[in-house]
Amino acid sequence: MSEIKVVSFDAEGTLVTPDFSYAVWFEAIPERYAERNGIDFELARKTVEEEYRKVGDQRLEWYDVRYWFDKLGLGTPDSVMETCRSKVCYYPEVGEVLASLSGKYKLVIASGSTRDFLNHLLRDIEPYFTRVFSSLTDYKQLKTSEFYLRVCQAMGVQPERVVHVGDNLQFDFVAPREIGIQAFYLDRKQQSDGRNALTSLIQLKAYLADADNK
Ligand SMILES: [Mg+2]
Repeated sequence: MSEIKVVSFDAEGTLVTPDFSYAVWFEAIPERYAERNGIDFELARKTVEEEYRKVGDQRLEWYDVRYWFDKLGLGTPDSVMETCRSKVCYYPEVGEVLASLSGKYKLVIASGSTRDFLNHLLRDIEPYFTRVFSSLTDYKQLKTSEFYLRVCQAMGVQPERVVHVGDNLQFDFVAPREIGIQAFYLDRKQQSDGRNALTSLIQLKAYLADADNK
């Protein structure tokens, strides 16, 4: 096995829980929509969710909080996102794993979240990372194999020397494997029986320690 140089992490669902994003999309945005339109929260939430559905997650706009604030007539998102910051929450093993790996490897984020979200999501752990890549903000695409290739190029590293971990089977496992990255699917809820599925990042740390000793 090639020597590992870079360990790449997805952000949401991998390092940080979905609570912050949920609060932005399904609480703070409907709340502001309700205020602006003088309607009650439940109706606002229904209306906003219907608008989300019409666009759908295959279009890039779906992920773009600025697009939504504009479309729904809500001004700019910054202060609204700020009100949700207490919802940023890391999985229990994250601090320990990052502290331990950051001494041995270059750590990067390879995320599908936009930078508007990453700025909040990574606030307490950002110092561990050499680079933060957002497929949407930086390359205007979802996490495709091409995105991972761009990440490797930017890091000046061959894909075989990169390990990536994330909680989406297509975006974090299939796509990076297509170009030869050693990818691991993180299945925190243990819903799959995949051989390469990890249930916590502690297992990634163990795998790397093991690979190191070979
Ligand atoms: Mg994820």
